[in-house]
Amino acid sequence: MTWQALLIAVVYGTAVSWFAQLLIERVPEQEPLRGKLRCGTCAAPLGWHAQFPVVGWMVRRGRCRVCGTSPGARRLQVELLCVLLTVAVVTTPLPSIFAIAWLLFVPVAAALWFIDVDHKRLPDVLTLPAAGVALLLAAADAGFHSPAALQGAFLGAVALFVLYFLMNLLTRGGMGMGDVKLALSIGALTGYLGWAYVVGATALGFMSGGALSAALLASRRTGRKDTIPFGPFMLLGAFLVLPLGAFFEALLAV
Ligand SMILES: [Zn+2]
Repeated sequence: MTWQALLIAVVYGTAVSWFAQLLIERVPEQEPLRGKLRCGTCAAPLGWHAQFPVVGWMVRRGRCRVCGTSPGARRLQVELLCVLLTVAVVTTPLPSIFAIAWLLFVPVAAALWFIDVDHKRLPDVLTLPAAGVALLLAAADAGFHSPAALQGAFLGAVALFVLYFLMNLLTRGGMGMGDVKLALSIGALTGYLGWAYVVGATALGFMSGGALSAALLASRRTGRKDTIPFGPFMLLGAFLVLPLGAFFEALLAV
C-alpha cells in the first residue's frame, strides 16, 4: 500500500464517517437526515469541529460545548471502521466506475454495522437503495468494460438473496430478513468482480461470525439462545474479500 492510498483512505474515511454517524443517529429513529450531529448525552447540536472526531478532539478535546461530555469511543469506532473499509477498497484494483459503488457503500456499510449492533436490525431504507445503487453503477461500468460482469452482479445478488432466504426459512427467522436484503447489495458488489468474490465474501462472513459466536459461547459471555447480529460479519466478509480475491480465485480454480 502506498502512502498516497493511505492518505486518500484516511481523508475519505474521515469525511464519510460524518454521514455514517448521521445515518446511525437518525435512521433508527426515522428522523430526517438534516442538521448537525447531536451530542450523545444532552442531544445538543454539536459545533462544526465536533462533526469529525479527530478534528473535534484537536479543537476542544471533542467535548460538547453545552454539557461538556466527550463524544466517547463510539464516534472514533465509526471513523476507524470507515477508514479501514476505505483501505480495503482503494488497495484493490477495481474497474473505475464500479470503484465508486464500493466507495459509496463504505458509509452505508458502517451505518448498517452499528445499527445492527445497537438495534439488531438492518433497515430497508439503507439495504434496498444500496442494492439499487450497486446494480446501477455495475450497469454504468459494464458499458465501458464488460457486459458479462453485469450479468455476474445480477446473478450474485440473486444467488446470495436465495441463499440467505433459505437460511431465514431453515433458522425460522434466526437469520433475519434484514440480512436477506443486505445479501442483495453484497451479492451485486462482489458478483460484478466474479464468483470467487461472492463465494469468498460469504465464506469469510460465516467463518468470522462462527469464530466469534464460538468464542463468546466458550467464554460464557452469551447463552445458546442469544442472537448475535449477523450483518457486521456479512459486511466484514464483503470488504475482506477485496484484498483476498486473488486467493479465492486460485482456490476455486483448482
Ligand atoms: Zn452535550
